[in-house]
Amino acid sequence: MKGKVYLVGAGPGDPELLTLKAARLLAQADIVLHDSLVSREVLQRISPGAEVIDVGKRCGRKLLSQEEINALLLSYAASHEIVVRLKGGDPSIFGRAGEELQSLREARVKFEIVPGVTAGLGAAAAAGISLTDRRVASQVLFSTFTRVPDANAMDWGCLTPATTLVLYMPGPDYSDVSRRLAAAGLPPDVPCVIVSGASGTQQQVRRTTVGDLSEEQKLPAPALMIVGRVAAQQIRELGDAFWHGQSNITASQLVPVG
Ligand code: SAH
Repeated sequence: MKGKVYLVGAGPGDPELLTLKAARLLAQADIVLHDSLVSREVLQRISPGAEVIDVGKRCGRKLLSQEEINALLLSYAASHEIVVRLKGGDPSIFGRAGEELQSLREARVKFEIVPGVTAGLGAAAAAGISLTDRRVASQVLFSTFTRVPDANAMDWGCLTPATTLVLYMPGPDYSDVSRRLAAAGLPPDVPCVIVSGASGTQQQVRRTTVGDLSEEQKLPAPALMIVGRVAAQQIRELGDAFWHGQSNITASQLVPVG
């Protein structure tokens, strides 16, 4: 094998959120295979001499299957020095990097992962949220919303009152999301922030609650939700009834503000 495959995080949109290493590799790449999530401004950083291939999904229609992408990476690694597989946000977060890494390992192709700013972090910054605000949160869960019949695909059993949930791919039906969050034990007054196009020119931030989510107008994709007490504009105690019988945090352990 001639080349090396770099799995590079493109960040959430703003090209200034690219790492220096990602920017350097884009400028040096011989070939770039990118997802549709990668912003135009980031794509403009690719060397003019590089071949650029869009392997992303559009409107639910896959341009290329995962197997086809894996095969392309192997064949390009045989003929090119610097092969960049560019993914929105961070490659290891809901980015199907696992399948690509396995295929590269099996074929003994050299590879390197270059992390990026995942959309959840870009969205928290956009909304002015501290994901682990120590007054109300001690852990962050990156999860996705899925409508597949297998409910186990979404395991929110580990949610606690001190969890911040970052929900990728919430889809178009917010009332469905609201119902599933309620079923996971979240009371209706838990704050929820929807961020669309985080860090990009079309960025939008909407503040609501788990209960009112169903009434919210759908924001354009890509969008995600940050759910939990950190998403309140003013961090405060939500009352003893906050959690349905599983709270292990007593009111005295919370530091109310304002
Ligand atoms: N690897 C990516 C996530 C891929 S899954 C990352 O680390 O960010 C795709 C989902 O990410 C979208 O459906 C959306 O929920 C979220 N997303 C990606 N970019 C976003 C952005 N700029 N603003 C808000 N959500 C975004």
